[in-house]
Amino acid sequence: MVGRTVVVVGGGIGGLAAGLALHRAGWRVVVLERAPEFGEVGAGLSLWPNAMRALGALGLAERVRAVGAVETAGGVRGRSGRWLSRLDNAEIARRHGVPLVVVRRADLVRTLAEALPPECLRSDSEVSAVRSDGDAMVVEHRGGVVRAELVVGADGVHSAVRRQWWPNAPAPRYAGYTAWRMITEPVADPPAEGAVIWGRGERFGFTALPGGRFYCFGTATVPAGGVAAGGELAAVRDRFGDWPDPVRALLAAVPEGGVVRHDVHVLPPLAGCARGRVALTGDAAHAMDPALGQGAGQALEDAVVLADCLVSDASVGSALVRYDRVRGPRTRTVVRRSARLGRLAQWSWPPAVVARDLAARLTPAAVTLRAMAPILGWTPPDSTGHVPVSVGR
Ligand SMILES: Cc1cc2nc3c(=O)[nH]c(=O)nc-3n(C[C@H](O)[C@H](O)[C@H](O)COP(=O)(O)OP(=O)(O)OC[C@H]3O[C@@H](n4cnc5c(N)ncnc54)[C@H](O)[C@@H]3O)c2cc1C
Repeated sequence: MVGRTVVVVGGGIGGLAAGLALHRAGWRVVVLERAPEFGEVGAGLSLWPNAMRALGALGLAERVRAVGAVETAGGVRGRSGRWLSRLDNAEIARRHGVPLVVVRRADLVRTLAEALPPECLRSDSEVSAVRSDGDAMVVEHRGGVVRAELVVGADGVHSAVRRQWWPNAPAPRYAGYTAWRMITEPVADPPAEGAVIWGRGERFGFTALPGGRFYCFGTATVPAGGVAAGGELAAVRDRFGDWPDPVRALLAAVPEGGVVRHDVHVLPPLAGCARGRVALTGDAAHAMDPALGQGAGQALEDAVVLADCLVSDASVGSALVRYDRVRGPRTRTVVRRSARLGRLAQWSWPPAVVARDLAARLTPAAVTLRAMAPILGWTPPDSTGHVPVSVGR
């Protein structure tokens, strides 16, 4: 039976969220994940109010809030350690009804996966082809074939579904820098506030997780494809060890083997994120520079809007046209703004860095918050029956 059956290709944050949204909308859901199990890299994730509202529409805001941390404040510091701009999380909560929440990725993936019936989830099922056969879609994977009415490509920036169904789409492009991510062991003397420190062609950020641990990341403008001969932890300590407090102490608390490294890739805009009975969500549709911390948030929004379109419109074809119309402009704006901030934050030419840091110092926090409002103020469509999320500290 293919009617109201959907195959979701990829079981990351975007795929699990799409699967859950469609399951709640009454679809039979099969999520095919190529990895041996559903999981995520050992890193953290910022969930801004728009992401938390999307989780609210999936019925998970309280559960995610319970496994996450809410910092009082944070912001951007210069390479000397001096504050360039501050972000008050209580003010974010006041304006948006929900604060910025930081979670371990693994906890978010587990929470999403546990909200789906186990029979929906198939790991070790790499998808090799997606084709249409009359009214049905046929998805071939390592373990067999599934027929469905709809296919959601949530298989990440290097999406196989996109390559097959958008053959003329430009390939993902190296953003020009690599990123190391890590979670510390509990820290004895934890810093009171998180921060991102902007250097020259380098950044280092840290933010609290529950249990006294910290999620940290570092970035560096280097050629793609590098691997540190002596291990990534040694490379990170070498590169950032003399940065302002508390960077050295945090790096000392990172366990051996606890650093993951990825070259950051972004996707040039696609001509639409739906074709026939195939929809793309998350990084498969709009992999963006991570500077705004919005990639997963947009994937969660995609999931909620996709389900809403399919609830509101009995025809899959026209529901997907609407999905594309709603999500295209929104995600293109977020992609553009992320790219702009990512470029700025990675600047390395000394006079430009001085001008950038001065401009950041002179920009009032209220102006920054106002500029972020169109992104953070997103609300789920009415059909999801969401109640306004308010998960305070
Ligand atoms: C350094 C960095 C920091 C970031 N920080 C934040 C942040 O703070 N906040 C935020 O919101 N976002 C952040 N992001 C972005 C966020 O990580 C991504 O946007 C998000 O994880 C995308 O989820 P996804 O499910 O679309 O893709 P992915 O996480 O890439 O998941 C795709 C899944 O598909 C599977 N797959 C791939 N191919 C196949 C196949 N052929 N068959 C079956 N399965 C397949 C993969 O194994 C994977 O599980 C950051 C990104 C980076 C690089």
